[in-house]
Amino acid sequence: MRAVVFENYEQFPSLTDVPRPKPGPGEVLLRVAGAGACHSDVSVYRHFKEGSPGAQKPPFVLGHENSGWVEELGEGVSDRVRTGDAYLVYGPIGCGHCRKCARGQDTYCENAATMPYLATGLGRDGGMAEFLTVPEHHLVPLGDADPVDAAPLSDAGLTPYHAIKQALPHLAGGGRHALVIGLGGLGQIGVQILKALTGATVIATDVKPQALARAEENGAVTVAGGDRQVEQIREITGGRGVDAAFDFVGITPTIATATATVAQGGRVTVVGIAGGTHEFSFFTNPYESYVTNTYWGTVEDLWEVVDMYRAGQIRPEVERFGMEDALEAYRRLEAGEISGRAVVVP
Ligand code: NAD
Ligand code: ZN
Repeated sequence: MRAVVFENYEQFPSLTDVPRPKPGPGEVLLRVAGAGACHSDVSVYRHFKEGSPGAQKPPFVLGHENSGWVEELGEGVSDRVRTGDAYLVYGPIGCGHCRKCARGQDTYCENAATMPYLATGLGRDGGMAEFLTVPEHHLVPLGDADPVDAAPLSDAGLTPYHAIKQALPHLAGGGRHALVIGLGGLGQIGVQILKALTGATVIATDVKPQALARAEENGAVTVAGGDRQVEQIREITGGRGVDAAFDFVGITPTIATATATVAQGGRVTVVGIAGGTHEFSFFTNPYESYVTNTYWGTVEDLWEVVDMYRAGQIRPEVERFGMEDALEAYRRLEAGEISGRAVVVP
């Protein structure tokens, strides 16, 4: 079958033929409906080296945002899973036995250091292929919802959802403000989730005018980059600052924008994986404000994301690519030419 393979560190992936996988015990073979191209894949093939934090040993098939139809059941899979049914894939795969995995939070598996991979598409073969194997308990049913548009929810929906859910206490009550920095795959869905779950005014920023226009359609108030950005954001909040900021870029200047605009007691969540840093001292940050990071989400969160999708509260903006154009999707993602999410439809 055709697949997008990450062959070696610091090397652009290849479109090549690999054997069709067989589902092991407790696993399901999915015929892939859609596989989203996430910006984290760019870190995987451009920046990670052997031993870098988060690096996964090549070769493997990319694609950690996947959906598909059940094609074949491995030994011991429950008869509740039926051939032809559509599922979204929960990507992270932990040991399945520790307290974090027991609560569906494979992202923070206590035995991650001794696991052979992090997730489908991150160390283990992913969904940029015609077929994919997935452990049964990592399947979230989609019912009759469109599985192709659903694919990005596995990460571009789940990650902002988890980050926002942790920050909800900061956004409950009247007159609250949230800031979203970086309006790509994750950020646009982040705006939709904030609008659906909170009454906060959502302020959004990006370097691309088209991304700002799309965020406005999603209900955000937008601010462009530039010298007056911090001042403009503070003005919208009446000078108080934002109660929660979500940085989907994660470079030093965007973390600086978030920490310069956060209110006393507010929360900054850095989601973007770009290695930006933040210097802290007693006088640099507003009193009792928080700066934190976050990684993906739990399987329970993903069920909730699917509920929001089926209720029309999350509407991923998807640009579809055939398998033969999958590498073009990554080239355009790197060039900043994708609006919303590129999804490969094999
Ligand atoms: P994307 O390429 O779809 O979107 C990035 C957006 O940021 C683009 O719209 C771009 O114009 C904008 N941008 C770039 N520089 C900017 C700046 N200086 N100021 C404002 N906006 C700027 O990327 P994505 O797939 O949405 O991923 C976003 C980030 O989140 C990446 O770093 C990715 O690796 C990371 N990520 C983290 C997790 C996690 O679990 N923490 C999960 C998935 C992705
Ligand atoms: Zn575990």
